[in-house]
Amino acid sequence: IQEEMQRAVKLNAISELAASIAHEVRNPLTVVKGFLQLMQKEEQGQKKEYFNIALHEMNRAEQIISDYLNFAKPQFKNIQVIEVNQILHEIISFLTPYSLKENVELNIEGTMNTLISSDKNQFKQVLINLIKNAIEATPEKGQVTVKVEEDQTVVRITIEDNGKGMSQEQLANIGTLFYSTKEKGTGLGTMVSFRIIEEMGGTLRYESRVNVGTKVTIVMPMNQSTKSSLEVAALSIKND
Ligand code: ADP
Ligand code: MG
Repeated sequence: IQEEMQRAVKLNAISELAASIAHEVRNPLTVVKGFLQLMQKEEQGQKKEYFNIALHEMNRAEQIISDYLNFAKPQFKNIQVIEVNQILHEIISFLTPYSLKENVELNIEGTMNTLISSDKNQFKQVLINLIKNAIEATPEKGQVTVKVEEDQTVVRITIEDNGKGMSQEQLANIGTLFYSTKEKGTGLGTMVSFRIIEEMGGTLRYESRVNVGTKVTIVMPMNQSTKSSLEVAALSIKND
């Protein structure tokens, strides 16, 4: 127990440090990005393309820092009753251009108005991370299907792809620090997702077979309130 406590104290110190570094580095990045955007406007041809690449990489750096910050110090400041299907539809429209670019079919199944209590942005982040991974693992003309089911007191969201899958060893590594098999991967997406789902009282599980595909299952406690949709809508407006 003593050791466990020491470990917790250490982890907390590391989290604090990571969070403050991430926070501090973000500011100069934003300034550099702003100037790059200004300079890009005045350029044409080859040089404009260079600015494009620089800006793209800046955005990537920003995203990585946000992911770190989120991992080191997840913020759950806005817990509200949210409708799972509504969020999923928002995310599917957000990710559709990406799936079209990758030539992967992105589908959604299930139409119940399931409610959960969660921080909307955190929950969205998890779904985006997991669906993006599914798209990235799937070859052209493959499919990614997101499904919502209610099961007594829980809601089950599955993200299934018929992509390259994972070996037992890869499965064992998923969600551990910096584990990635991608050239420009960070391994932060799954790590952050595990943390957020746990924090919200849910579970996240992977099943996978090489060259067959992967199924990710999120199980979340369902919101037990018997409020009508209207009342819930009023509640979430008040919380926004
Ligand atoms: P990144 O996407 O930056 O690599 P993630 O934490 O999102 O980091 O994912 C970690 C690793 O888990 C990926 O590099 C990949 O090897 C594996 N992975 C995650 N989701 C899937 C999936 N749906 N199919 C196959 N492999 C996956
Ligand atoms: Mg990822």
